[in-house]
Amino acid sequence: RTVYLNGEYLPEEEAKVSIFDRGFVMGDAVYEVTSVLEGKILEFEGHLARLARSMAELQMTGNLSREEWLEIHRQLIARNNLVDGMIYLQVSRGNAGDRDFHFPPAGTPPTIVLYTQSKPGLAEDPKAKTGIKVVSIPDLRWHRRDIKTVQLLYPSMAKMAAEAAGKHDAWFVEDGFVTEGSSNNTYIVKGGKIITRELSNDILHGITRASLLKYAAEAQMEIEERPFTIAEAQAADEAFFTSASAFVMPVVEVDGVALNGGAVGPVAKRLREIYLEEGRKAAI
Ligand code: PMP
Repeated sequence: RTVYLNGEYLPEEEAKVSIFDRGFVMGDAVYEVTSVLEGKILEFEGHLARLARSMAELQMTGNLSREEWLEIHRQLIARNNLVDGMIYLQVSRGNAGDRDFHFPPAGTPPTIVLYTQSKPGLAEDPKAKTGIKVVSIPDLRWHRRDIKTVQLLYPSMAKMAAEAAGKHDAWFVEDGFVTEGSSNNTYIVKGGKIITRELSNDILHGITRASLLKYAAEAQMEIEERPFTIAEAQAADEAFFTSASAFVMPVVEVDGVALNGGAVGPVAKRLREIYLEEGRKAAI
């Protein structure tokens, strides 16, 4: 693979980052994951806007311009012959020298890393046909989940706990309500209405979520943005989640209770089709 590191395109074995990098030592880095379908980038502007916001919230400097980011994405797609897959982008606060909780001096360049991951047939994930099963887990993350940081230890633990329970993913619960999934935004469907938690610092502002809600509104579907409980999810007609890499993923079981008889429901199925169709049209 050819990867990008601080202005250079390198074979992956040659891309080396300092052991003093704050991304490594402090988890002081933000990231984005963007899907590529048939060589085209999905949701490019949305991911760049969120990256800029994450960096601004953490007073990180050294962001690149839209044109520079686009050129790097295009170069990586071309140099790796990427058809279907993902582009991972990470910006850390850079090499701080000796370990120090304080931020390094102004002007310290960030460490910018991008690489591709090939996922042939990404849009035809068989799990989208059968749906996935989730378990709930307390949300023990910090309270700035709107910032997309690389502090992913707890989400990793949640995915391991789900796997240990024989399920696919975990939904976080705080104060009795579902916040979001371990790496996705969560939804239930009741009486044709799509219910999903409203945006706040409690959840990541999903790029897929924003587009899907726009497409659903355009298709005259009813949307209610409010928190829901696990019990409400278990009594719902359907459930699903969204993320840049999974698009719209149907959920057919919540904490051992099957939804829609354990089969993918019509609303989740339709929303996945709409998202992929509109997403491909808007891809660049
Ligand atoms: N919430 C969390 C915690 C996530 O990690 C992700 C995936 N990055 C999402 C939601 C979905 O966001 P997006 O649609 O932008 O991928």
